[in-house]
Amino acid sequence: MFEKVLIANRGEIALRIHRACKEMGIATVAVHSTADAEAMHVRLADESVCIGPPPAARSYLHIPSIIAAAEITGAQAIHPGYGFLSENAKFADIVTEHGMTFIGPTAEHIRLMGDKIAAKQAAIDTGMPVVPGSDGGLADEADALKTAKKIGYPVLIKAAAGGGGRGMKVARTAEELPEAFATARAEAKAAFGDDAVYMEKYLTHPRHIEIQVVADSHGNVIHLGERDCSLQRRHQKVLEEAPSPALNDEDRARIGKVTADAIAKLGYLGVGTVEYLYEDGEFYFIEMNTRLQVEHPVTEMITGIDLVREQIRIADGAPLSVKQKDVKFNGHAIECRVNAENPRTFTPSPGTISGFHPPGGLGVRLDSAIYAGYAIPPNYDSLIGKLIVHGRDRAECLMRLRRALNEMVITGVDTTLPLFRDLMNEVDVINGDYSIHWLEKSLKDKSAAGN
Ligand code: ADP
Repeated sequence: MFEKVLIANRGEIALRIHRACKEMGIATVAVHSTADAEAMHVRLADESVCIGPPPAARSYLHIPSIIAAAEITGAQAIHPGYGFLSENAKFADIVTEHGMTFIGPTAEHIRLMGDKIAAKQAAIDTGMPVVPGSDGGLADEADALKTAKKIGYPVLIKAAAGGGGRGMKVARTAEELPEAFATARAEAKAAFGDDAVYMEKYLTHPRHIEIQVVADSHGNVIHLGERDCSLQRRHQKVLEEAPSPALNDEDRARIGKVTADAIAKLGYLGVGTVEYLYEDGEFYFIEMNTRLQVEHPVTEMITGIDLVREQIRIADGAPLSVKQKDVKFNGHAIECRVNAENPRTFTPSPGTISGFHPPGGLGVRLDSAIYAGYAIPPNYDSLIGKLIVHGRDRAECLMRLRRALNEMVITGVDTTLPLFRDLMNEVDVINGDYSIHWLEKSLKDKSAAGN
């Protein structure tokens, strides 16, 4: 097993990886920008290396500095976490070229799934159901109009290099299409340096349901059930739960098996997530993420499996620690993404945390790197913690989550905690009756009503 792992990330996920390493007896190396010198991931790691100034492009995304940090400290493997370099195939290649192990899938699979047009084709080839749409990319506006006519409005234009919900535009009619096409292209170019776009039928009331898969280098592939991430704002997840209130055991087993079989055909290695939209009993593949996801803890809570430990073991050549038949789903888990943002306008609220009281008690997990006195730098994502709660069933989970949310205190900066407290009183949330459009609509209705 590796003796030392470098964690190429920051915040709660760097801490999450550090914890898995320590339980496995592995020493950790933290890297950090000058803005993060006092950060918790730096304080807890066995060693740390400053890799540059605050802008991510010059630190957390700066490959030469990270490789140098690994070489200086003698780390044998690098865990990229999520975001930053986690889905950068070139980085995975460079790590390997330097004689170290990239804790993740092969560069080839990262590349394949990073191009969403190619990914969709791979999904079709391996038997996963997909959203009806264009056959590959859209050449020009005329092609877009022709394709939309064929699949029927409303349609969604999406960036081939997409991520984080950017470069996505809906057209409800042929009149709206030219503008949606041009805007999606421009956004894609600005965000990803690539203006390739494709088209999908825009589903009007789907749920976002994703399947966690894990594959080792010995040909074993398992799925760990689904996560329901339908509560979203701007195509970004806000609250996630497992199991989905919308699936029955039969649906779950069916889509789990289709997905695990497809992943086996791909020869995939490591943990990954296949994202589907689910509408009127049908699943539609939208993309695959070739990394650990932000919401992985809900799966850990209901299966008892440490996904980061599995990742590290797989990268080291070990077989999966569990077989599909031994995977047992136990109870219900919900995660709330706590952001340092204004809960109404969602404007980021960096600054110093003056007071912090974490919730506790049975079934409560808080993945966070904050502490009282910590100054949240303005340079990075506003996620400051994930509150994950487990219960024997959904009702108990909600009851416990409501209690934990009321107990949790963060002062000095705005957070999205009030949003979650409000959500706990919504009948649709209590009943698990929501599509991917529910939260946006609810927020809009509330702001129109002046609340
Ligand atoms: P990204 O990589 O930018 O996150 P995804 O393809 O994963 O993009 O989609 C993100 C979200 O956008 C989905 O969870 C869903 O809410 C919405 N979305 C994507 N495709 C469709 C579609 N065809 N119809 C309706 N909503 C969609």
